[in-house]
Amino acid sequence: MAINIEKIREDFPILSRSVNGKPLTYLDNAATTQKPQTVIDAIVDYYTNYNSNIHRGTHHLSNLATEAHEAARNTIKDYINARHDREIIFTRGTTEAINLVASSFGQAFIKPGDEVIVTELEHHSNFVPWQMICERQGAHFRVVPFDENGDLQLDVLEKLLSDRTRILAFNHVSNSLGTVNPAKEIIKMAHDAGAAVLVDAAQSVQHIEHDVQDLDADFYAFSGHKIYGPTGIGVLYGKEKWLDAMPPYQGGGEMIDQVSVEKTTYNKIPFKFEAGTPNIVGPIGLAAAIDYINNFNFDELIAHEDDVLQYGFEKLGEIDGLKIYSQAKRHTSIIAFNVEGIHHYDLGTLLDTQGVAVRTGHHCTQPIMTALGVEGTVRASLALYNTKADIDSLVAAIRKALKMLGK
Ligand code: PMP
Repeated sequence: MAINIEKIREDFPILSRSVNGKPLTYLDNAATTQKPQTVIDAIVDYYTNYNSNIHRGTHHLSNLATEAHEAARNTIKDYINARHDREIIFTRGTTEAINLVASSFGQAFIKPGDEVIVTELEHHSNFVPWQMICERQGAHFRVVPFDENGDLQLDVLEKLLSDRTRILAFNHVSNSLGTVNPAKEIIKMAHDAGAAVLVDAAQSVQHIEHDVQDLDADFYAFSGHKIYGPTGIGVLYGKEKWLDAMPPYQGGGEMIDQVSVEKTTYNKIPFKFEAGTPNIVGPIGLAAAIDYINNFNFDELIAHEDDVLQYGFEKLGEIDGLKIYSQAKRHTSIIAFNVEGIHHYDLGTLLDTQGVAVRTGHHCTQPIMTALGVEGTVRASLALYNTKADIDSLVAAIRKALKMLGK
């Protein structure tokens, strides 16, 4: 299907509402994306027609729910090109996926004196769990800095990697700066040093290439709600060899094989990592979101988003006193900025009065803010339904806000 942006916008009912008496301009997609009607319908259909607990069911509704849940696993497997359905584990989100790996991989493979590497570009959810596991296991926590353009300093990474490095965790795309990290190159560097790699794909899986086999990622994590699906569902992809070798993260129903007073044995993957009644409708909604994306040629979606992004850089760059952060070699979907003499929060509030939704603050990346020497930024972030008209609305709203503030 060729891209018809007006038609796409009609697929997302919320985009036609107004906010504060103005048409909504939604530019907070890095925080969460809006949902197409097909995703909303899939969720309503589940609760209306076949709500039931899954697995081990003997009745019709349970079988329907189980089939839909497992079909969703297959849709997700295909989308990221994993080898097997069993390499797809459902979690609450990226945060839980990373905590699962840090805890379980950490328990099995990170020993006192070992090293874990993350980067200064990480969201707190790909930073703090690694600090915690390093503290628990007596390992060293190392951080790759970024340079003045917002690119990772790969020469520093090269020096940090050693035969003590057990795992490197980094994001494919920075949620604060929009930097696209050269993931394949970084993963190869880590593998050459004998380290495993976790890719935080929360901001990349919906915007750029997302083939886990091509990347050769050992682990790959993302959140359903940032890729047009529901909240409360996320995905952890892990190579089978790692998942098989890792201990369970949580104990409970479904993750067991046999339980007795003497000893409990565990289920096979992915169920070993899915204790308790899962979010059943979450994967169903997420699969509907992926089906929606699959209606389009993904390269055309990327080209459209890039076109709007470049227009955004150009138009925002024309505003006096506005500083755009990050001039990274490769960029996607995010423009972070501040206007001289104005607090980011005040600007965000004034934009909201004009129906423009952006996010302000540290964006859960305090190490980035520290490196930039700021407390926070204003962040406009794009999705496939944004247009140059949204950028025009943002720019007009900023100019009006500046006038109101006497700038
Ligand atoms: N990593 C990145 C790069 C993110 O942008 C986010 C969400 N802002 C997360 C991790 C955490 O995702 P979630 O809150 O959905 O678990």
